[in-house]
Amino acid sequence: MVWSPQIEKEISSSDVVIVGAGLFGLTCANLLALNPKIRILILEKRNHIGGNAYSYFDPDTGIEVHKYGSHLFHTSNLKVWDFVNQFTSFNNYRHVVFSVHNSQLFSMPVNLHTISQIYGQFLGPDQARARIQEDSMIQLEVDNFESKAISSIGKVIYQSLFKGYTQKQWQVNPQELPSSVFSRLPIRFNLDNSYFNDDFQGLPRDGYESFFNSMISNERIRLLLNTDFFDFKEKVKKQNKIIIYTGPIDRYFEYKFGSLGWRTLDFEIEKLNLPDFQGTSVINYPDLDVPFTRIHEFKHLHPERSYSASQTIIMREYSRQAGRLDEPYYPINSAEDRKKLVNYRNLQNAETNTFFGGRLGTYLYLDMHMAIASAMNLVENEVLPCL
Ligand code: UDP
Repeated sequence: MVWSPQIEKEISSSDVVIVGAGLFGLTCANLLALNPKIRILILEKRNHIGGNAYSYFDPDTGIEVHKYGSHLFHTSNLKVWDFVNQFTSFNNYRHVVFSVHNSQLFSMPVNLHTISQIYGQFLGPDQARARIQEDSMIQLEVDNFESKAISSIGKVIYQSLFKGYTQKQWQVNPQELPSSVFSRLPIRFNLDNSYFNDDFQGLPRDGYESFFNSMISNERIRLLLNTDFFDFKEKVKKQNKIIIYTGPIDRYFEYKFGSLGWRTLDFEIEKLNLPDFQGTSVINYPDLDVPFTRIHEFKHLHPERSYSASQTIIMREYSRQAGRLDEPYYPINSAEDRKKLVNYRNLQNAETNTFFGGRLGTYLYLDMHMAIASAMNLVENEVLPCL
């Protein structure tokens, strides 16, 4: 989009310009609009809101397709849960994941079932702990994904279910990834196979789009889709408005210190004339001879909905390193990236009236609930005091 008198007018008649309509931006817009004096303009370069959590209903089957991969809402933060429940109710879905290695099906995350399957015999909690301990005798001199994984689950499980998956998913050697990526997943010495530990979980009953629309249904929130802030960044800055920027931090500073490492995803979607393809919503594929990382089957996310029995929709997910023109999804956060990030953060601190947020703007691996909590903090502690 080119600069026009209409855009100029939209900007001059707003108090805060939010760049990006992902969950972080939508939360900021919602909270700021609680103040009747504040007018908000959201600029979104895509043709929809909700960032990567966006979904749409397939018109033929009525199946809700998560365009950028399955997004599961989960949190233990009551403030976040109360906040989102103003806009939608949630179904009772509890996420479980399986992993196919050497044509065998394993439980994921690692639990007593997984450990018993890998070692080919039922192991009780103490026996399982002892087996893992025997297999994890390594010197923990370094702290990275691989050392953390081996010391927690042993070499056999690491090599079967994690190493290949992580190489495919992150496109780097797991020794270059921070241990925090491994720590996202629980390890359980019981038979609980739920993917998340959180108190509150579920999927929006009427779909993500309706949830997101309801967050910004306020006459003082204006939304311009198909509008790339970078088409007129300097002109927006000249207007001296408060800006909340949620795009990639390296792009904002014109890659001055080089590109940060990002991972992007490609999806291959298929409609099948089958009632059910895999019996569950997500199956991971850790083996390196399979090119994709996982297969999503969206029907299973909403067991409360009724669908035609004749069709299902599946989506294969492929991961690769992002170039500058690709959509960045996940910060890789290698040691090299962390050095560049310090420089970008210094520039960010010197920017006046501009706040950075969200997964891309902070270069942090934030889940949906974390993005909401961090937007709440930003609005309350930094943006409102400036207005
Ligand atoms: N992981 C793995 N095998 C699996 C599932 C996860 O190796 O079957 C690793 C992988 O490196 C992943 C990390 O554990 O990035 C955290 O998993 P999570 O499900 O949180 O990743 P996300 O769904 O956010 O991509």
